[in-house]
Amino acid sequence: MNKRIGNVVIVGGGTAGWITASLMAKVLGKAVSITLVESDDIATIGVGEASIPPMQPFNQALGINEAEFMAHTKSTIKLGIQFEGWGKATDSYMHAFGGIGKNFPFCDFYHFWLRARAANKGGDFWDYSLNFQAAKAGKFNHLNQIPGTALPGLSYAYHFDAGLYARFLREKAQAWGVKRIEGKIEEVRQCKTSGFIRELVLQSKEVISGDLFVDCSGLHALLIDKTLNAGFEDWSHWLLCDSAMAVPCAHGNEKVLPYTRSIAHDSGWQWQIPLQHRIGNGLVYSSRYLDDEAAKSLLMENLPGKALAEPRKIKFRTGRIRAPWTKNVVAIGLSSGFLEPLESTSIHLIQTAAVRLIKHFPHQGIANEQQDAFNQQSKIEFERIRDFIILHYALNERTDSAFWRHCAQMNLPKTLTDKLALYKSTGKLFREDEELFTEIAWQQVLIGQGLVPDDFHPLANVLTDTQLDDLFDSLNTLTQQTVKGLASHNEFLEKFARG
Ligand SMILES: Cc1cc2nc3c(=O)[nH]c(=O)nc-3n(C[C@H](O)[C@H](O)[C@H](O)COP(=O)(O)OP(=O)(O)OC[C@H]3O[C@@H](n4cnc5c(N)ncnc54)[C@H](O)[C@@H]3O)c2cc1C
Repeated sequence: MNKRIGNVVIVGGGTAGWITASLMAKVLGKAVSITLVESDDIATIGVGEASIPPMQPFNQALGINEAEFMAHTKSTIKLGIQFEGWGKATDSYMHAFGGIGKNFPFCDFYHFWLRARAANKGGDFWDYSLNFQAAKAGKFNHLNQIPGTALPGLSYAYHFDAGLYARFLREKAQAWGVKRIEGKIEEVRQCKTSGFIRELVLQSKEVISGDLFVDCSGLHALLIDKTLNAGFEDWSHWLLCDSAMAVPCAHGNEKVLPYTRSIAHDSGWQWQIPLQHRIGNGLVYSSRYLDDEAAKSLLMENLPGKALAEPRKIKFRTGRIRAPWTKNVVAIGLSSGFLEPLESTSIHLIQTAAVRLIKHFPHQGIANEQQDAFNQQSKIEFERIRDFIILHYALNERTDSAFWRHCAQMNLPKTLTDKLALYKSTGKLFREDEELFTEIAWQQVLIGQGLVPDDFHPLANVLTDTQLDDLFDSLNTLTQQTVKGLASHNEFLEKFARG
């Protein structure tokens, strides 16, 4: 327990392994020695192509040049996620990143919009989203602020090839001193009294010892689950999908969309993620309601271009490891749990877990209080994201399949029921415990899927009717003018991101 931590061993060289290795090497420098073990015989998961905006500051913290990153990982810009068929089968809305409209002190813009809506005015909520309007026009430029105003500009993330990202980070991490060992781990040796992990034995019989082990072995969960049995909290009663079928395809037309598409089907949903050189596609489905052959056909019939490979099936379980830091093992990545990629949160969770481990780094030895704090923070983070993902399913208004009917009728986690009750009666939403998704993110899914509150904040009445009309008109004009001045997404990629 009180042993100084000098040697860190990371197991696994997927996105999780190399994100963790590069951040630790960059931040902790020579304070610890870092070894990463990965096996060429055990493939990485090979999917994971959409991100969310915090990826930008993460890359900046590593000192990564954005143009270099985009060229190496074949990135495109992501301004949001378009959800098609999630409310009613014919509905479509976007969870656009960034702000909407103009917030007033103590009162979010959408309360003003709700007031206007009650009087059949105000237009569409997304008329005031710069991200949405730019996404639909296929446009993008770096824009921190709307010129001549204090309003924020475009907020963005990336679509990228996660395998290339891991390779890119591997080069950086090795240059920063991380030692890479290729080999398959065949045996894990523990201390007989404490149960702490002491050594890994490779197929080649090489022995690797360490003080702290980071389990980035993906769904194998080699240390945290198979060795330490840290316990798994299963959430499949709320999130029914347990399988995915993935296949890349060629671009069908010249215009590369600056947003992800999430298209609901009878028993799950399909992603379309445009990269520079191809489109990533996949069907996430519940094996209880759809068999693999039917899933494969459905995916292949709904590709936007020519398939570039055979579809590949991935089986997963939804939930989280109860104590991702157990003894001297910290699980990061798929080994620590999984939430389906509906809101592109897995790679973000890797990045926050790596940051959290550095903040809690036990250089003087592992203390129970530190482990508990780490585990509690991880739990809250996972649960809040879980609730946001469940929301999309729970609010569906589809009656056309058993899968959607089940989702609409299921009991929800109490944290989500409470949030929905407050929102429905008062229109109020609060971001709790540093949760990832902002009030604006929640508003978009709630309004997009047809749940409009019974009330709005009284401060929305501070404007007269004329002032309210003027506010909407001026914001609308400003948004349209700003979008007009942007370059097309394709032009941006050509100039900035092709390398
Ligand atoms: C269907 C699907 C879609 C997804 N889409 C997204 C998305 O759009 N956005 C997003 O953020 N995330 C997404 N994810 C999640 C994302 O792919 C992962 O979080 C991310 O790639 C990290 O994976 P990993 O590094 O934990 O595991 P892996 O990539 O599986 O890496 C595991 C590593 O462990 C090594 N290993 C395992 N066992 C041993 C052993 N015995 N000896 C030596 N080495 C070993 C392997 O060689 C490999 O290097 C998706 C996941 C799935 C399943």
